[in-house]
Amino acid sequence: MNAPEAEARRLDEADPGHRRLFHVPPADGGRHPEAAYLAGNSLGLAPRATRDELLADLDAWHTRAVEGHVEGERPWLPYHELLTAPAARLVGAEPAETVVMNSLTVNLHLLMVSFYRPHGERTRIVIEDSAFPSDSYAVRSQVRFHGLDPETTVVRMRPRSGEENLRTADVLDYLAREGDKVALVLFGGVNYLTGELMDIPAITAAGRAAGAVVGWDLAHAAGNVPLRLHDWDVDFAAWCSYKYLNSGPGALAGVFVHSRHLGRADLPRFEGWWSTEAQTRFEMAPVSRPPATAEAWQISNPPIFAMGPVRTSLELFDSVGMETLRARSLRLTAYLERLLDEVTESRPLTVVTPRDPQRRGCQLSVRVGTGSASTLAKRLRHDYGVIADAREPDIIRLAPVPLYSSYHDCWRAAEALAATINEELR
Ligand SMILES: *Cc1c(COP(=O)(O)O)cnc(C)c1O
Repeated sequence: MNAPEAEARRLDEADPGHRRLFHVPPADGGRHPEAAYLAGNSLGLAPRATRDELLADLDAWHTRAVEGHVEGERPWLPYHELLTAPAARLVGAEPAETVVMNSLTVNLHLLMVSFYRPHGERTRIVIEDSAFPSDSYAVRSQVRFHGLDPETTVVRMRPRSGEENLRTADVLDYLAREGDKVALVLFGGVNYLTGELMDIPAITAAGRAAGAVVGWDLAHAAGNVPLRLHDWDVDFAAWCSYKYLNSGPGALAGVFVHSRHLGRADLPRFEGWWSTEAQTRFEMAPVSRPPATAEAWQISNPPIFAMGPVRTSLELFDSVGMETLRARSLRLTAYLERLLDEVTESRPLTVVTPRDPQRRGCQLSVRVGTGSASTLAKRLRHDYGVIADAREPDIIRLAPVPLYSSYHDCWRAAEALAATINEELR
């Protein structure tokens, strides 16, 4: 590869990001001490602040026991409220429209209880063909739950033949033609495999104009691209917090319900004692009084030690700001793209992510035309200390995360990819 390492170092000095706030794992191969970590789209790195904050919550249990519910620096009963406003800012919502709870697929189910209401001819759920498997299984099981046939009721939208990404125009066409049979549109905001950023406002508007409900899985969008869920009129959304939100493996997830649906008595919801308004929760009444907020979708009292890392992470996003992060993300990914163009030119590799920066987040996905992607990812890791992730059969995903990734990480990834493929072809 011709791109000089010194250039990457210079770019890092000029545009350093916030790497020092994170634990970067050691490299287990290559000539650099730290890993070039490009798998933050799979599991984000641990913020340094998380450990102490989590231990402080644990100490409250040691010293206060049951009184910790109502006493201390962060009493547990209203603990989830600490997460609501920063989560709302992150996704462009009003605080009443968001709540942090459960995990992502669980939340998708709870939201579909309310928002997938097939009736008459209007039964279909539209997803993208490359939807994350959990989403595919979730919608198929919801369809079966309503006594319908997933084979005919779940519509999987594919890119045109020979193309890698869905065209917005094709989605809009489908909704204009078949929209009267669609009950729910549920796409990933950023596709987990290709990294394509969907046109959320356009598809939401078209789906709603067709009379469907439009929800978004923002697992790969939250903390990656700026979002304006309220203004875009999205009906509902859900996202996890362990990818770009750096809140730890299996971290609690987020939910958005548009204000026009809050307080609606006609929407079915599953309830528990956390679905009722906080002021009357301990009156032990037999009938709930749900608040006109997204908290009405809560069921159980939340796991405090799982909320701490989400709180710490959201505070970090608040202090840096999503717009600032997006600006750095555009610079970092453009740099990686330039290097990958050089690497892929003479080798059996293709970048499948859209080339328009407005149609992607930070991730670039590369299709590997020789050998297996997972073998390649193992060699990148063990021989070069580059942590990328492979998706069977042939995709390597590289995500330069604007909070902590460096230009030098990108340079190492491109260099290692070129060298590994060269060895394979020799
Ligand atoms: C990561 C991811 C999930 C994971 O689901 P969990 O319920 O958190 O295990 C689901 N959907 C998409 C699109 C994802 O990217």
